[in-house]
Amino acid sequence: MQGLVIRGPERQEGRDGQTGQRRSVLGTPERSAHGSSERASWASGARTRREGVNGARASAGELGPRGPDGSWRLADVHQAIIDCEACPRLRRYCAGIARAKRRAYRDEIYWGRPVPGFGDPRARLLLIGLAPAAHGANRTGRVFTGDGIGGSGDFLMGALHRAGFANKPTSRTPSDGLTLRDAFIAAAVRCAPPDNKPSPQEITRCLPHLDAEMNCLPEVRVVVALGKIAFDAYLQLVKGHGGHGGHGDRRGVSLRPRPLFGHGVVHHLPNGQTLIGCYHPSRQNTNTGTLTAKMMDDVFKGARACLDPPSAGLVR
Ligand code: SF4
Repeated sequence: MQGLVIRGPERQEGRDGQTGQRRSVLGTPERSAHGSSERASWASGARTRREGVNGARASAGELGPRGPDGSWRLADVHQAIIDCEACPRLRRYCAGIARAKRRAYRDEIYWGRPVPGFGDPRARLLLIGLAPAAHGANRTGRVFTGDGIGGSGDFLMGALHRAGFANKPTSRTPSDGLTLRDAFIAAAVRCAPPDNKPSPQEITRCLPHLDAEMNCLPEVRVVVALGKIAFDAYLQLVKGHGGHGGHGDRRGVSLRPRPLFGHGVVHHLPNGQTLIGCYHPSRQNTNTGTLTAKMMDDVFKGARACLDPPSAGLVR
């Protein structure tokens, strides 16, 4: 695999005889330690508020009728996310931030709602982040958007652009023309949490949204988890039972031994998906050198090599 470097204790890339998992390490970590066609439908629903029965907001799992193939439409899934009120603590926090605003954005109307995923519905690469930033996606309504110049959105989009998954290297506003190709960005939690720390209960409560979104992304082959919380949320999801049952349903996956999070560590899972760990591109990590541009490039080179092995000659 191009860009694949096997290092240290992970030197033995091999398939576990019982679980079918394979593990390897990408690159050389320097320290241990809504695009395309979907964007239009997302944007059209972004400023609406759909009331549920008796005026109650829709919550996680209330998704309306399925399509002919048994799955929900991505637009319906996103509307259910936007309407969700299942976590009172997070909803209060997001609404409070949207009212108070940061001085630099005082003339803007904050989104202040749960944030759906963004990208190419035919994506083979899925990125899972932690949660919207209080003055980033909670302000703009698009994941990894509006975190400021050189913030996490720009850092991530720069890497995706260099790897050919994004048409530009920045992510500033929902109308900035950014589109993703063959990639989709979701999050473990859809509401900005205080101190960027959702509770375990809030993560679990929000998983049905990721589940439903993944069921609308049947082509996903590689999952890049941005941080340990996203990594663990994905594992919790694929391990669990009772998914939404769409054509992308790959639940009930055996995870023994349990895959461990590490930057650049690759796990080939029995469900056919490859899970790659990546440090979260927060300023805390990028400003301290915990995560460098090269380290992130190595992750996406590895993802690209998994999707399009040189010998396969695939062109998308
Ligand atoms: S965090 Fe998720 S489950 Fe909780 S209110 Fe927000 S969208 Fe709903």
